[in-house]
Amino acid sequence: MRMNNRIKEQYAQIASALQLRFDEEYEAIHGNYGGYPVLIVPSSSGSNVYYYMPKICIAAESALGPLSKEDCKAYKKEHAYVSSLSQSGRLVTLVVKNQRKAERLMEAIGTELRNLISYLHSRGFQPCCQVCGQPVPAEAYFVSGGFLQMCEECRVSLNQRMAVQMNRDRSKPENVIGGVVGAALGSLLGAASIILLSQLGYVAALSGLVMAICTLKGYELLSGKLSRLGIVVSCVLMVAMTYVGDRIDWALVVARDVGMGFASAFGYIPTLVNIGMIEASTYWANLLLVYLFVILGAVPTILGVLRNRRDEGKISRLS
Ligand SMILES: [Zn+2]
Repeated sequence: MRMNNRIKEQYAQIASALQLRFDEEYEAIHGNYGGYPVLIVPSSSGSNVYYYMPKICIAAESALGPLSKEDCKAYKKEHAYVSSLSQSGRLVTLVVKNQRKAERLMEAIGTELRNLISYLHSRGFQPCCQVCGQPVPAEAYFVSGGFLQMCEECRVSLNQRMAVQMNRDRSKPENVIGGVVGAALGSLLGAASIILLSQLGYVAALSGLVMAICTLKGYELLSGKLSRLGIVVSCVLMVAMTYVGDRIDWALVVARDVGMGFASAFGYIPTLVNIGMIEASTYWANLLLVYLFVILGAVPTILGVLRNRRDEGKISRLS
């Protein structure tokens, strides 16, 4: 999740209007409001609308029991800006309806936050730690891809458990041979898609994406994890197999047009490019385009893996 600067500014404004804090790195508004630990983040449903659908999350528990479906439905009906209200465990989540104008969005969040707090109060909800349920001060944390509002004690014990788990994962052996086989199979699929799509007359470039993703996923699937070595092996295979796939694609065309055997056509491709039988600019432009798409597919996948590894076992207190 990455907000654009305009939306970031809006969130920062909303936070300061509500006297809450805005964590720029994790793009979350958090703090204490009316005695309750509050977290406001974009809903996780895709598209551009995404950032305009903030959800308000409050860690609280009531002796009267959790909110029922009927309670939530009735609440939504009574409140104009509410898209949905739900409770899962000790977390009450309210999604604010899409507001196109920044001022309206701020107004909606402010209004619905106040309404929700007074509703929770009237229903006997006590602020608590989302993990253990103790009525102690809870702070917002980012833990392996999600947010948690928890107490200090829970943070310490979660930290310990994650450290143990991480050690276990790290010592899990990587099946390098399996990974290489997986990457090779993936890159074969990629090469096949380069040939097939191109022969069918589609833009071969898109198959660059297929190549990148199949190769990396192939390694990960059969080795158990995508390590640095796996990334290097996959990249080498991608580069090589993209070239091979593209050359086979040309050889098929030459074999068909000139009536030459496929194997000799494959061998002659560089010569044909050199003597201008295949226009060099067309040949290289086409190949570069496919490589460009291989990069477009590979880079986000690799960055995602590296980012996960960085966040793995890390509990970050929102600032
Ligand atoms: Zn706790």
